[in-house]
Amino acid sequence: MVSAVLLSAGRGKRAGVKKQFVRIGGVPLYELSLRVLREAGITDIVLVVPEGEEVRRPDVRIIVGGPERMDSVYNGVKAARGEYVLVHDSARANVSPEVIRRVMEAEGDVVVPAVRSPDSVLYDGAYADRDRVLLVQTPQKVRRELYLEAYERAKRKGKIYTDEGSLIYGEMGIEPTLVEGDRWNFKVTYPEDLNVLRRLKVERRTLFGYDVHHLTAGRPLFLGGVKVSDEVGAAGHSDGDAVLHAVVDALLSFMGYGDIGSVFPDTDPRWEGAKSTVFVKRTMEFARERGISVSRLDITVILERPKLGPFREEIVRSLSRLFSVPEEDVSLKAKSGNGLYPDRVEVFALVEVTVPDRSPRKG
Ligand code: MG
Repeated sequence: MVSAVLLSAGRGKRAGVKKQFVRIGGVPLYELSLRVLREAGITDIVLVVPEGEEVRRPDVRIIVGGPERMDSVYNGVKAARGEYVLVHDSARANVSPEVIRRVMEAEGDVVVPAVRSPDSVLYDGAYADRDRVLLVQTPQKVRRELYLEAYERAKRKGKIYTDEGSLIYGEMGIEPTLVEGDRWNFKVTYPEDLNVLRRLKVERRTLFGYDVHHLTAGRPLFLGGVKVSDEVGAAGHSDGDAVLHAVVDALLSFMGYGDIGSVFPDTDPRWEGAKSTVFVKRTMEFARERGISVSRLDITVILERPKLGPFREEIVRSLSRLFSVPEEDVSLKAKSGNGLYPDRVEVFALVEVTVPDRSPRKG
């Protein structure tokens, strides 16, 4: 059996944040590697975290890391159950199932994935022969007992190694079996690397929503969660907030719930006069469960009166709060309808969402 140790014990010295917990498409960064390890068929997974960050989850074992990377690896390898252990840095969150399989299937006490350098290399001021330079990645596979012994030897001498291959070579003289890595299996090191990772891992989709309500006298009018009139309001079962309905409708249908009418039917007395913000809260819960987040809203409201101009900022702020999207990514356009829509409010909404990429990247 092969186990995996996923290192997430970094203290964020270089990136300025604990990058393993930064959310990418709605999930913490370490989760991306976790998914690929599982996809490769590994069931015994040890997640090594910093002290005080012991996340609770039933599907992995949580172990606290040590002062150096190799101490964290040791804690994880000791807890692993397999004869062989894959050690992977969660910062290499774009690892492919193919690299994992190559490392798993190769024979040897130590297996290390590596790639050639695409750049020329200067070593001590002189050009090195690029064909003899290899850049070493993770996951690295080690025989469990061998790693534990090599670590204990290094520890007695106070020596520090930066990866498993160098530790075992340095202490036991055993050369690693090399397999082809993947140049996209890069290590998230600097803050801008997170943006690159987001572009690779997060898919964006644009959804469309629409709603129309008849306006009647003597009801308040709500748009985007803001009351814009007391005199003439939208007829409808709930508070008739056509902006919220259009966005919620787009989201629910994208997530496979049919539409707003199937989740909050107007035949259900629970929704009689309900605030539409209740629909938003429930919809956003569904979205969070799926790792979906709203990244942009572009809304057009057609309404004769009242004029929406004075309410625009308040509506944008309200939508930003309700859908957890930055204010600068909410646009709201108000059209008068040129006299064609005296008795109704009509809303068109484009909703851009980010979804985690669950499919393995090819190649
Ligand atoms: Mg409606």
